[in-house]
Amino acid sequence: SKRLKVQGLTHSYGGKNAISDVSFSIEAGEIVALLGPSGCGKSTVLRAIAGLIQPKSGKIVLGNQDLADVSARGRGIGMVFQNYALFPHLTVAENIAYPLACQQISRAARKQRVEEMLSLVRLNDFGNRLPRELSGGQQQRVAVARAIAGRPSLLLLDEPFGALDRALRFDLQVELLHLQRTLGITTLIVTHDQEEAQSLANRLVLMNKGNVEQIDTPMTVYDRP
Ligand code: ADP
Ligand code: ADP
Repeated sequence: SKRLKVQGLTHSYGGKNAISDVSFSIEAGEIVALLGPSGCGKSTVLRAIAGLIQPKSGKIVLGNQDLADVSARGRGIGMVFQNYALFPHLTVAENIAYPLACQQISRAARKQRVEEMLSLVRLNDFGNRLPRELSGGQQQRVAVARAIAGRPSLLLLDEPFGALDRALRFDLQVELLHLQRTLGITTLIVTHDQEEAQSLANRLVLMNKGNVEQIDTPMTVYDRP
């Protein structure tokens, strides 16, 4: 688990600024929610951190490492997206093992890690199933297991439970908090759901129109008049 520092991040698509001068940091093991209306730039911040886009300017530091010259793969970041489909022709276990294939891990250790992850998301008996045989909530739990199987130093979640109904969303939030407390992974969760942000995050970064408007703890942000 590492500290993330984002400093002066700016990015534009086709000449139009999507985010400008975005700065915040996440302490090691902390959960921070990036909150704001649709189109305010949350996903752009996430994509820059993940290395999926190259920001126009700014600095992203994970632990002691400036990520400017580090490939998306080399960053050791786990990701879960709202519509981040599992590989449909791979079993649940194969899906979870997928990020481990890129690492130097023995077959036996890989198998053990998959079992451990399945147990962590309470899907012990589902390893040999195909994704389509699972419910939406179960599939999203597999996506979370896959994201953390490689022991990432940072976990990025982009509206991870947005597609699920309320009850299931709540279950998965509880699950995520449990996982987070067990593993202590530094986590950035993007959401436009204030309740979700309130219940999950240690701190909130509020964005609007490409800028950071406020950084605070969940209580104080909404207690203000
Ligand atoms: P959010 O995640 O908060 O909804 P985004 O980061 O997706 O916001 O988008 C920020 C702004 O950038 C929006 O105005 C959006 O329309 C624009 N944008 C996002 N992705 C692209 C893209 N690939 N090409 C052009 N404009 C984009
Ligand atoms: P979100 O708001 O959840 O970030 P959107 O539904 O706005 O996602 O965008 C979905 C996809 O469309 C993203 O890949 C984004 O990059 C792209 N996109 C968003 N806005 C624009 C835009 N104005 N022009 C081109 N692509 C865009």
